[in-house]
Amino acid sequence: MKLPILQYGDPILRAKGKRIEKIDERIRQLTQDMIETMYAANGVGLAAQQVGEALQLTVIDVSQVEDRPSTMKLNGKDVDPRTAMPLILINPGIKLAGETELAMEACLSFPEITGEIERAKSVTISAQTLEDGQIEIEATGLLGRAIQHEVDHLNGILFIDRMNSATKAALSSRLKRMQKETKRGQRVRVQDRQPLASEATL
Ligand SMILES: [Zn+2]
Repeated sequence: MKLPILQYGDPILRAKGKRIEKIDERIRQLTQDMIETMYAANGVGLAAQQVGEALQLTVIDVSQVEDRPSTMKLNGKDVDPRTAMPLILINPGIKLAGETELAMEACLSFPEITGEIERAKSVTISAQTLEDGQIEIEATGLLGRAIQHEVDHLNGILFIDRMNSATKAALSSRLKRMQKETKRGQRVRVQDRQPLASEATL
C-alpha cells in the first residue's frame, strides 16, 4: 500500500526514531509499504519518519540511477550494489570515514528543492535486516550518500541542516512557505510527481 509522504514542517520529521525491539508483522508490513511508496515516488531512499513513524527503519534502492555509481561491500565481500537492492536497514549504527565530497541531493519531504551537501566519501553501517540477522555494509558513491541521508532522517536531521548558509538563505522563503502549507494541511502529494532531471531523491 502506498503511504502519504510527510512534508517539511511536520514535527515527526524532527523526531529521533525509536529502536525496533521486535520484528513483527506490523514492521514487515510497514517495510513493504515503504518500499512501494519509495518506488511510486521515484525515490532512492525513504525513512520511517517520512511516512509518519518515528522508528529506526529505512529502505534504499539506488539501482535505477545509472549516472551516479556506487560501490558496496556486504559483510566484507565486494558485491554489485544493484543485486543487493532494495536494502532494508533496521536499528543502524553508522561510521563515517575518509574525506568528504559535495554532491546534489533532493529529499522526498522537500518537493522541488535540491542542494549540494557535503558528506563523507565512505561509510560503514551495521544494521539488522527483516530476517533478524545483522549485516555490515561498506559503501561509497550514491549508496554511501543515501545511507548517510537516511540515517540522518532516523535521527531527526534533515538535509537542509547540512546545506551551507548561503544555500539555506536562498531557500529560506520557500522553506517558510512549505512549513505554513504543511501546518494548514495542504500537503503536496509528492508520490505522483515526476523526478527532476538526474536527481537522487532520498
Ligand atoms: Zn530525505
